[in-house]
Amino acid sequence: MFSVLLAVLVLCWGLCGCQQQSYSSRLRTPPPVQFKSVSRPIVPRSVSQLAREVNIKVRIMPRNTKPRQGARRLRPSFITIHSTANHSSSATAMQHSRALCRGAFRDRSWHFSVDQYMVVQNLPLSETGWHAGNAAGNNNSIGIEMCESENRGHNHFRTWDRTAKLTALLMKRYGISQRRVVPHYHWTGKNCPTPLLTDGRPGPKWAWFNSRVDYYYRCINGGKSNR
Ligand SMILES: [Zn+2]
Repeated sequence: MFSVLLAVLVLCWGLCGCQQQSYSSRLRTPPPVQFKSVSRPIVPRSVSQLAREVNIKVRIMPRNTKPRQGARRLRPSFITIHSTANHSSSATAMQHSRALCRGAFRDRSWHFSVDQYMVVQNLPLSETGWHAGNAAGNNNSIGIEMCESENRGHNHFRTWDRTAKLTALLMKRYGISQRRVVPHYHWTGKNCPTPLLTDGRPGPKWAWFNSRVDYYYRCINGGKSNR
């Protein structure tokens, strides 16, 4: 079953086109985030091994949903991290994906919903989402929403860690440097992803997240960073 899902994911990745209008003049790459490398030795693994750990399900929004009708061709050069700020026990990755599929978020869309158990892909990676709050962010980045459901036994750390693994996979697939892994804050100043910001801005918690992304990236990249 997993191999089928992985094949769909790879197919979606493979469809990435080159016809996207360039917005590069409106883009700025933020300065590198200062963080301490994770000290434990890397555990080398293949991209598909790490993808298996991430546990990616595919549930693509129907083409007739509003955000997909207005979508453009995406050639991702940034990865934007969000959090849902919804602590309800039912606000899981799968529930967010179901809501996206029935159009419950109106004109909003993003590529991946993550919780402590799984990642659900909601959009083809060849297509823009509506998550960043401005055109530069939407037209150039893959959007990842971290779900914050709080049911019995919830563990937000696992969600952040799974998101770090997914981010490392996407960096590797698209050749995106870690400087271009940004919080939603980068595009509009919004306090998002709240649990990884400090007083609404990137600080020690964002640095901690970066150290984990770097660690998993090194695990699938022969020990080398892309900072
Ligand atoms: Zn956000």
